[in-house]
Amino acid sequence: MRVFSPVADYCIIGAGIVGLAVARELLLTRPGYSVVVLDKESTVGAHQTGHNSGVVHAGLYYKPGSAKSQLCRRGVGLLREFCAEHGLAYDECGKLVVARDLHEMPALERLFERATDAGVPGVRIIGPAAVRAREPHCRAYAALLSPSTAIVDFGAITRAIAQDVLRLGGEIRLGCQVQAIGDRGDRVEVGTTGGPVMARRLVICAGLQTDRVSRMAGGSRGPQIVPFRGEYYHLRRDRAVLVNGLIYPVPDPRYPFLGTHFTKLIGGAGVSVGPNAVLALAREGYRRRDVRLADVAELAGWSGTWRMARSHWRTGIYELAGSLLKSLFARRARSYIPELRTRDLVRPGAGVRAQAVSDSGALVDDFVIERHGRVLSVRNAPSPAATASFAIAQFIVQRLGAG
Ligand SMILES: Cc1cc2nc3c(=O)[nH]c(=O)nc-3n(C[C@H](O)[C@H](O)[C@H](O)COP(=O)(O)OP(=O)(O)OC[C@H]3O[C@@H](n4cnc5c(N)ncnc54)[C@H](O)[C@@H]3O)c2cc1C
Repeated sequence: MRVFSPVADYCIIGAGIVGLAVARELLLTRPGYSVVVLDKESTVGAHQTGHNSGVVHAGLYYKPGSAKSQLCRRGVGLLREFCAEHGLAYDECGKLVVARDLHEMPALERLFERATDAGVPGVRIIGPAAVRAREPHCRAYAALLSPSTAIVDFGAITRAIAQDVLRLGGEIRLGCQVQAIGDRGDRVEVGTTGGPVMARRLVICAGLQTDRVSRMAGGSRGPQIVPFRGEYYHLRRDRAVLVNGLIYPVPDPRYPFLGTHFTKLIGGAGVSVGPNAVLALAREGYRRRDVRLADVAELAGWSGTWRMARSHWRTGIYELAGSLLKSLFARRARSYIPELRTRDLVRPGAGVRAQAVSDSGALVDDFVIERHGRVLSVRNAPSPAATASFAIAQFIVQRLGAG
């Protein structure tokens, strides 16, 4: 670790996969500059990065030309290279997006066109016999096959990025919560529970808290983060044979969430079913009973929440019902795997997604990176931001001034 002058060249808030990838990219491309990463938790990757599905998205879904589409495609190659260089598991198990009946075919075909336009390698539509050859227990009318979709352990990848940051001379301060940010002319002062940190440039990658931290630095009020809990179960060990790889529904284009899916986990850790998307009453609330009054008051006091609720209340109730009733969750999953029984779903878990919502109540689809003065803020980095993290880091570093 380099001992730097009282003013660091770069300070990054957030030791999730995005913040640490930015730190590593800075250290690789600007040797001699000092970099400090701050996180309020005692481990790296404690929130979204450590609670996700572990899927390396190939880039099927995203609007052509969007930041998500471009950075996801570039990110896949960079992530794969990183895993190879660091001896980390990368299992290209492939994925099926399944149309259960004729009605779902137009949407599946549109997805195929989008994926082809984005240059996703090897995608094709296959019939029921070819689906059965890959997934004998899956009911399908047809499916889109994406052979290059992969699975990884984003937690392990993030720990390896942190090791690189330390090896390259960066500093990571854990247990250090950012409470205030002040503009001091040629530098930024970051007030933390571990004392003040001075830096010439600041990058905010604070996930579920990113809007609040950005506002401390003078960022705009919107978009605001609305937390959506993604709940899942594991398939009982002896029933994991029901799924060989990744089985996804045809997505609803109105939502950035991909729908409850079956996910083979890396390293033989079994199969997960989920996540759903339920409005969370605490930004870092991983259990249904977690309620944080300050988070609820902020949600309730903001007009965007009510506009969102007015447009999407039916879906909200549908998701909540599946969350409260395990038998309903299982029944929905059974429409893909008819042999699945409610008692096959065990060991529930959850992650919380940081979804930016605009003042008009729209769920912001694309990545949003905002600049104000010496500060660059990642305002929306939902899925596939873990897949795209190295590409997002390159994008950010290219836009950051030098010290
Ligand atoms: C259920 C679920 C499934 C997903 N599945 C996938 C998937 O399969 N593939 C994929 O590519 N993506 C997936 N994603 C999305 C992906 O996990 C996120 O986009 C990605 O992890 C975002 O990383 P991040 O570093 O921006 O945020 P985070 O990992 O949330 O990190 C933000 C960090 O900021 C810190 N922080 C916040 N406030 C402060 C403060 N005031 N002071 C100091 N530190 C602070 C937090 O402690 C945290 O460590 C999924 C997400 C969820 C929730």
